[in-house]
Amino acid sequence: MNTAAAAFIVGALSTAAALHGQDPAVPPQGKPSGKILAPPAGAISRKTVDEKALRTTVEELAACGTRHSLSSWDDPGRGIGCGRDHVAARLREIGKSAGGRLNVVVDRFESTGPRTHDKPARMENVLAFLPGSDPKLAKTVFLVSGHYDSMPSSVMDPAADAPGADDDGSGVAVSVECARLLAKGTYRATLLFVAVSGEEQGLLGGKRLLDYLKENGYQVGGFLNNDIVGADFAPGAPHRVRVFSGGGPDGVESPSRDLARAVEEAAGRDAVRLVFRLDRLGRGGDHRPFVEAGLPAVRFTEPLENYDHEHQTPRVENGREYGDLVKFLNFEFLGNVARANAETLRRLALAPAAPRDVTVAGGVTPDAKLAWSAEEDGEREGFEILWRETTDPRWSVYDFVSAPGENVLKGVSTDNHFFAVRSVGRNGARSIPVAAVLKPPPPRDTATPTPSS
Ligand SMILES: [Zn+2]
Repeated sequence: MNTAAAAFIVGALSTAAALHGQDPAVPPQGKPSGKILAPPAGAISRKTVDEKALRTTVEELAACGTRHSLSSWDDPGRGIGCGRDHVAARLREIGKSAGGRLNVVVDRFESTGPRTHDKPARMENVLAFLPGSDPKLAKTVFLVSGHYDSMPSSVMDPAADAPGADDDGSGVAVSVECARLLAKGTYRATLLFVAVSGEEQGLLGGKRLLDYLKENGYQVGGFLNNDIVGADFAPGAPHRVRVFSGGGPDGVESPSRDLARAVEEAAGRDAVRLVFRLDRLGRGGDHRPFVEAGLPAVRFTEPLENYDHEHQTPRVENGREYGDLVKFLNFEFLGNVARANAETLRRLALAPAAPRDVTVAGGVTPDAKLAWSAEEDGEREGFEILWRETTDPRWSVYDFVSAPGENVLKGVSTDNHFFAVRSVGRNGARSIPVAAVLKPPPPRDTATPTPSS
């Protein structure tokens, strides 16, 4: 950097500091009343993650030759049926060694789309439920998923080799490893470990998964989609995994973004890199149908992709190797991703239900008024009121209160911050934050002039 540039930066910093000094006083850090509970005990430690098991899952899947969704469902040695068999067998084995509480379901269905030649095609999703212990929360699911189908260079070719180690054997391995790490525990809400088919044929398995959950009366508490999470080839590995979350209609607040923040809080800032967009540009994934239904859903993807190793029939051309092969994966990195997912699921499934109907009112007054409702819950300690500068990516705690209802934040402008509320359990587990929306104004009185500047 030359001296002029350095002088410019120093100048900019001191200008910012000077401007900051001109902002009128607002409560600078909130007023937490001392009740900041520690997160729930028993965190998943990185060393309990089994990298060998992750490798075995990926290798078994890759050894099926192809797992194209239009390949054979019945040949145990080659095709997508081979992939399904390995995943279902592994989940059943985990369930057995965890005392039999894991309920493995193979959901067979048919889907039609341009990538099934517009004819109904057989598909199967593999689901493993760990039922929640709390009768009121057992119909809320927190789920992790990868897709076990794969594709070669042509998405319509079910015959060519498509080992799909990274896309998405890696995501399936994370889902299965989460089941192994969590299946012996007891959680208030239901956990669900999934491997879907049909992703490459147009998110067919993800769409079906959403319908299946609705048909069976489940509410989606949060969906962690892991797709392409196994490679980390850049120098300095392991790096942070990216977590993509789309914004809502205003481009800012959405349940998915608050799920992403919950992931970062559970896993740590050194473990995940938040990316505030639905997905990589021009790409899709199984979380999309959930996001479109207004549900909290995010996508985990490795830090930097190598397109020679995705959606490519294995081959060497001019000395350049193409193909999605096991040897390109980094199992230390994949283990980190598994840990981040498992710890997030653990915390969210231990938490009370998120608050409902969170509103902010008080425009044109000096105080912000936050209100919310929540069901009775003997395991809940209370609620955290969260706030942030409109330019900040993360919430901080403004206050703790024990009951739902209306809370007046004295002297806090509604206009300079965003607000949210989350539930806190006696065990320290927090729900996903729920961002406050503007409270609908009372019925319009024609005598009252419209608020204006
Ligand atoms: Zn994929």
